[in-house]
Amino acid sequence: MSDCIFCRIAAGELGSPVYRDQRVIVIDDINPQAPVHMLVIPIEHLPDARSLTDPDLLAHVFSVGHRMAAERQLDGGYRMVFNTGPMAGQTVFHVHLHVLGGRQMGWPPG
Ligand code: 5GP
Ligand code: ZN
Repeated sequence: MSDCIFCRIAAGELGSPVYRDQRVIVIDDINPQAPVHMLVIPIEHLPDARSLTDPDLLAHVFSVGHRMAAERQLDGGYRMVFNTGPMAGQTVFHVHLHVLGGRQMGWPPG
């Protein structure tokens, strides 16, 4: 998907992931909403979390997210979220897990 920004980052054409393995990359969000704001992105193009049906890949995405949160010393807690669909605020239609931390989070989310 040459017109997909996250496919281009995964392909190494753009940006610099902070983590990469066979199945996912992790990038720092370009417009961070917290002191730490990372995105865990499957390399395979899947449009949203509804398409992330492979249980091994889904578990891997969460596992890498938790590991990256630990690496960034988010010991007091962090938030992980999939915005799924326009009404949830999804703007990039290549599935990604947000990992946010480093400040007190509010609830309910906006
Ligand atoms: P969504 O709104 O789809 O849940 O999240 C998309 C996220 O991707 C946003 O937080 C946005 O700031 C981030 N983003 C969009 N384009 C780029 C980019 O080119 N590089 C990086 N690092 N983040 C991006
Ligand atoms: Zn893509």
